[in-house]
Amino acid sequence: NRQVILKRYVSGCPTVDDMEVVTGTVRLVLPPGSTTAILVKNLYLSCDPYMRTRMTRHTDDPNFVPDYVPGKVLDNCNVCKVVLSAHPDFKPGDFLWGVTGWEEYSLIPNPVLCNKINHREFPLSYYTGVLGVPGLTAYAGLFEVAKAKKGEYVFLSAAAGAVGQIVGQLAKIAGCYVVGSAGSDQKVNLLKTKFGFDDAFNYKEEADLNAALKRCFPLGIDVYFDNVGGATLDAVLRRMRPRGRVAVCGQVSQYNLERPDGVDLFQLVGKHIRMEGFLVSEYGGDYYRRFEEEMARHLREGKVVCVEDVVEGIDAAPAALVGLFAGRNVGKQVVAVARE
Ligand code: NDP
Repeated sequence: NRQVILKRYVSGCPTVDDMEVVTGTVRLVLPPGSTTAILVKNLYLSCDPYMRTRMTRHTDDPNFVPDYVPGKVLDNCNVCKVVLSAHPDFKPGDFLWGVTGWEEYSLIPNPVLCNKINHREFPLSYYTGVLGVPGLTAYAGLFEVAKAKKGEYVFLSAAAGAVGQIVGQLAKIAGCYVVGSAGSDQKVNLLKTKFGFDDAFNYKEEADLNAALKRCFPLGIDVYFDNVGGATLDAVLRRMRPRGRVAVCGQVSQYNLERPDGVDLFQLVGKHIRMEGFLVSEYGGDYYRRFEEEMARHLREGKVVCVEDVVEGIDAAPAALVGLFAGRNVGKQVVAVARE
């Protein structure tokens, strides 16, 4: 059972040497007497920026998810197939998405964080992206947190990524004016041609972010879907319209820093801007099922498309994860460890 383990706690940018692919000793049998355990074969591992936050040891302030432990296998929300089951709700051959290890096989004592895959007409890997956590994050963040409405001016960062590409397309469907920023011309081109954004820019090529935002939003921004924090957030806050909303989804520009960059939060006070943090985990159960059906409809009708960046084999997993912080992924980063 090949596994990706954390070798040591990380400071600064993660590297492939912070992880190791080892042969683990998980026995591919169910614990005797269990009535809940399942053994799954992992098919698609999801690479997500928040995994970096779990590679730091949090001593005083706990993170919102447990830290990874050196010497232990990483885990995340992956796609897998049930091989053995003692659980009445799961049977061998079922396809699931949910929390499993970054390994070929995972023994799950009680799969409370696993869901059945309902739509087999789409590629299974979509449940690491558009039909999984990133899609749900985009949907909940845009409509529940930012409350984007028809006719509003919407800006988003890391716009070509797993969450961003869906945010932009959902905002277009809702009738918003949508502009995204991304870190390469190839990504900017995708935003404009494939995802139907009204405009987009390469933030690495803009000498002055304030000027870029003024050019794209002469009348200001109503909704900012923040994936990066830092200098972009600072510039966006200056461009927000009164009663604008910022959905603070993530702060990927900060994850590798020992101390966060300064941001002028006083802007919120003067303009009555509501800036609200949220976690996708609040939006499970019935909310997820409503989202899943709506998104499946958009996909079938071709109103939402998605781009994935799939690398092959578990040995490629550490580099794929590290690549997120250099923007090497074009679209949702997935590691294919096995085909069904
Ligand atoms: P992406 O697919 O967007 O991959 C990360 C991207 O971030 C890179 O491709 C890169 O794109 C960009 N990036 C990396 N480093 C920096 C930097 N220093 N400054 C600016 N941009 C950078 O990831 P996801 O779509 O999975 O995640 C997007 C955000 O959403 C993250 O902040 C993540 O933590 C957050 N998130 C939050 C959830 C929640 O519940 N609140 C749930 C899921 C995700 P580029 O080339 O454009 O720079």
